[in-house]
Amino acid sequence: MDKNEKIAAWMESHRGEMIEDLKTLCRIPSYSGPAAEGAPYGEGPKKAMEAAMDMCRSYGFAVTDHGDRVMTADMGPETPQLDMLAHLDVVGPGDGWDTDPFEPVEKPDGYIYGRGVADDKGGAVAALYAMRCVKELGLPLSGRCRLILGTDEENGSSDVAWYYERVKPAPHTFTPDSNFPVCNAEKGFYRLRFKKAWAAETALPRVAELHGGFRVNVVPGQAYAVIAGMEKDALLAAAVPLAAEIGAAAKVEDTDGGVKLTVEAKGCHAAEPETGNNANTALIRVLAGLPLAECESTKAIHELDKVLPHGDYYGRALGIAQADDVTGRLTCSFTQIDFTAAGLSGLCDCRVPVCANEENCKAVADRTMGALGYETEGAMVPPHWTPAEGAFIRTLNACYEAYSGREGGCYAMGGGTYVHDVPGGVAFGVVMPGEDVRMHGANERIKVDDLVTAAELFAHAVGAICE
Ligand SMILES: [Zn+2]
Repeated sequence: MDKNEKIAAWMESHRGEMIEDLKTLCRIPSYSGPAAEGAPYGEGPKKAMEAAMDMCRSYGFAVTDHGDRVMTADMGPETPQLDMLAHLDVVGPGDGWDTDPFEPVEKPDGYIYGRGVADDKGGAVAALYAMRCVKELGLPLSGRCRLILGTDEENGSSDVAWYYERVKPAPHTFTPDSNFPVCNAEKGFYRLRFKKAWAAETALPRVAELHGGFRVNVVPGQAYAVIAGMEKDALLAAAVPLAAEIGAAAKVEDTDGGVKLTVEAKGCHAAEPETGNNANTALIRVLAGLPLAECESTKAIHELDKVLPHGDYYGRALGIAQADDVTGRLTCSFTQIDFTAAGLSGLCDCRVPVCANEENCKAVADRTMGALGYETEGAMVPPHWTPAEGAFIRTLNACYEAYSGREGGCYAMGGGTYVHDVPGGVAFGVVMPGEDVRMHGANERIKVDDLVTAAELFAHAVGAICE
């Protein structure tokens, strides 16, 4: 058997173990929680990290705990050559699952379902199995290959910030936390927070309360409002057609202080707003069509419907729409809103192309919102770009082409990947192009065959880069 056949045979014979290890990690609800002693991101992320450390130790890797935030597993000589960077934390389950999000299941359609199977425990396990394969086949290494597993990617990546303050990155880093082939350019971030207050109101009917969104980087699939002074049947009759017009569903129920109106649309990642149907903006659109009293809360509904209208993915109404050839269009997702009797606060997750700067983005949004009486805040984070011509990217693409049978290349994206601040870092896999893994949404999934293919081509990449 030549090397290629050996790697393929090893992967095939370890497929079952790989899926079992993935399931073990996915059974741990590792979304962030309150910090505790020895668990800066909460109990879930810490448990996932401990499980991964045990796993890596059992396969004979040198394992290190970095401040309860990040773990590393090493193989090969001391000289750093390649870092593979993945994360063990996940976003919360959200609504709409067909199965238990934390009891992963393989279905006859060839997919495994569960929170984190794709983002990013699947990537972590594929990278781990690439290392296991290289180690167990005894392939020669002249430099160190390190698997870095963090636990705070979904909430700002303070874990790797902490790590990279203490440890230098290897000459090459990839993160299997995106799509194949190679993501070498990432947009920057702009998180726009805004708020407005008003005196408690008595006019009827009015919006007494409104809530939508659970994470800054997740477009919610559900949002609700409580309307005071309106009959349930009248509200239902008005809301259902308004919601249907924009592809959403509305339901109503009696609750304390009025009638609760819930709008169901489709959640998605904030960086890809076109793939979902934002429940926040959908709910505001529905409310704007109701016969509400003239008062401050109603005024706010109409303002939001005007500056952050449903279906405006690019910040056009806000005045910040722009694009360039490297990173494409600016996207703007209205991901969180909390609206009470005395005011509202909201949050938009904007991904900004290379051409965006403080003047043509932040200052414009501040002015648009300011003119309507909103207070704003939020800083911009610059974009990340690794030129496509280097040997590292060529090697990754060659492995990808040879073992996936697909065409390689580079692309840019809106999601800040885990290597946003790692010089020369790229995202590579773990999701095959065209696959909808429902990242951050309900029924997250990944094709088992794809995961095995990814592990196989990662093994080749490790071999080629650390040889
Ligand atoms: Zn991720």
